[in-house]
Amino acid sequence: MDFRNPTRREILAGLGATAFTPFTNSLAIAQSIPANPDVAIIGSGPAGLSAARTLAAAGKTFVVLEADERRGGRANTDTTTFPGIAFDRGCAWIHSADRNPMLPVAKANGFTLQQHDDGLDHVWYGREKFSNAQTQSIKKITKEIVEANSKAAKVRDGAVSEIRPIRSKEEQATATAMGPMDMAVDFNDLSIRDYDDQAELEPNYLVKEGFGAVVAKFGERVPVSLETPVNKIKYSGQGVQLETPKGTVAAKYAIVTCSTGALQSGYIKWDPVLPEWKETAIHNIPMALLAKIPLLLDGERFGLKPFEDILLEMPGKQDIYFICHPFEFPMMIGFVGGDFAWNLTAQGRDAAVDFATTSLQRVFGEKASKHILKADFTQWPRNPWVRGAYSAAAPGHFAARAALKRPLADKVYFAGEAVAGEFAQTCGGAALVGAEVANAIIKRLK
Ligand SMILES: Cc1cc2nc3c(=O)[nH]c(=O)nc-3n(C[C@H](O)[C@H](O)[C@H](O)COP(=O)(O)OP(=O)(O)OC[C@H]3O[C@@H](n4cnc5c(N)ncnc54)[C@H](O)[C@@H]3O)c2cc1C
Repeated sequence: MDFRNPTRREILAGLGATAFTPFTNSLAIAQSIPANPDVAIIGSGPAGLSAARTLAAAGKTFVVLEADERRGGRANTDTTTFPGIAFDRGCAWIHSADRNPMLPVAKANGFTLQQHDDGLDHVWYGREKFSNAQTQSIKKITKEIVEANSKAAKVRDGAVSEIRPIRSKEEQATATAMGPMDMAVDFNDLSIRDYDDQAELEPNYLVKEGFGAVVAKFGERVPVSLETPVNKIKYSGQGVQLETPKGTVAAKYAIVTCSTGALQSGYIKWDPVLPEWKETAIHNIPMALLAKIPLLLDGERFGLKPFEDILLEMPGKQDIYFICHPFEFPMMIGFVGGDFAWNLTAQGRDAAVDFATTSLQRVFGEKASKHILKADFTQWPRNPWVRGAYSAAAPGHFAARAALKRPLADKVYFAGEAVAGEFAQTCGGAALVGAEVANAIIKRLK
C-alpha cells in the first residue's frame, strides 16, 4: 500500500471501531414517535429538516429519525472547542445566496453576515510568493478551463484534467482551487459534467454566529427522534416499514436523506434488496473530502487582514488554503481537500495540525508556531453516519445523480445534497431538494 494514499475503503475499515454508539434514554424517545405517520424522514440535516417543515406546513404527519445524538447533520456550529468563537465544523459559506433558503432565515433572525466570494488574495508556491500578476492569472486560467469544460460537457463526461493538462505553477494552483478546495476531489477525479452542472456559487456569505446555527434556527420547531438509526427499510407491500433499535415505524412514504457515504456503508438493509441500478448509482457518487484545521492564534495576524484567503501550494498535492481571522476572530482556518485530506484523516489529528503548522512556518518563519494556542481537525469520515464531506460523481458517472434521486417503488424518495441538481454538495441545495421531494409526496397524499 502506498502510505501516502490509502484507499477510502481502507480508511473506513480502520474507522469501523467507532461506528455505533450505545443508546441512552431509548424508551422515552421511542414513545414520542407518532404511530403510522404519512412520511418517515431519515436524517435531520438540512434536507430532512426542510422536508419536515414542508410536510408540517401542508398538515401532513411525519417523523424524523436521526441516528446521531445531535440534529443538523453536516450543518454543525461548534461553540465549545474555541470558547467565544463559532466554528463551523461542516458548512460555513451560504453559497448561491440569492437562491439559498438559508439566507432569509439568517437575515430574519439577526445573524451577522459577511459577503466572501471566490478569488485568492495571496498564493505561495513552496517558499515563493506569487506576484500579483501570477495570482490574478488564476482567475483567467479558471475561466479558460470552465469554458472548455462546458463545451466538453455537451458531448461527454470524463475527468476535467483530460481537458487541460496542468503544467505551470499557476495552473497547479488553479487545479487545487477548483479540485480539492472546491469540489473536494483531486483535479483528476473531477467529473466534467458534475463540475459543469454546478450553479454559480456567488454571492457567498459567511455567518459570524455560524451557518450551523442558522440551520438550527431553520429547524428548531421540527421534532426529531435522536439516536434512532434506521437499520432496515422494507418497501414491498403496503407503505414502508423502517426498523430501528427502538422499534419499527410504519409510514406511507419514506424520504432518505443520508449521505452517499452512509448509504454505501451498507448499515441500512433493504427489503427487497436494492435494484442494481440504484446500488450502482450510490456507489458511483463517492464522498469527497474537505477537512478543516482551525488554528487559534494569540492575536498574531502574519500581516493578513480579516477574511483574506491564502493558498499554500506544494508540489505533491500537499496544499492548504486558509481563511484568515474571519469576523476578527484570532483564528486561521486551514482547509485540505481530496486525496491528501483522506490521507491526513487516516494519520489523525496530530499529523493534520503538524502539517498546518509547518505550512505556516514555511512562509512566515519558524516562530509562526509559537503564535498557535490551540488547534483542531474536523474528521467527518470518522462520523459513521456521514463518512466524508460531500458527494462528487466519479468521472464518467454524472448520470448516477439522477438515478439516485429516482424513487423506489413510488414510495421511497431520496433527498439530500447528492441529489440537489445544480446545488449538489451544498447545504442550500439539500434544503431545496428536501422541500421538493416533500412537495412531490404531498401531491400524492391528496
Ligand atoms: C467540512 C465541510 C465543509 C462544508 N462546507 C460547506 C459550505 O461552506 N457551504 C455549503 O453549502 N455546504 C458545505 N458543506 C456541505 C453541507 O454541509 C452538506 O451539503 C449538507 O449539510 C448536506 O445536508 P443533507 O441533509 O443532505 O445531509 P446531512 O447533513 O448529512 O444529514 C443527513 C443526516 O442523516 C443521518 N443519518 C445517516 N444515516 C442514518 C440512518 N441510518 N438512520 C437515521 N439517520 C441517519 C445523519 O446522521 C445526518 O444527520 C460542507 C460539508 C463539510 C463536511
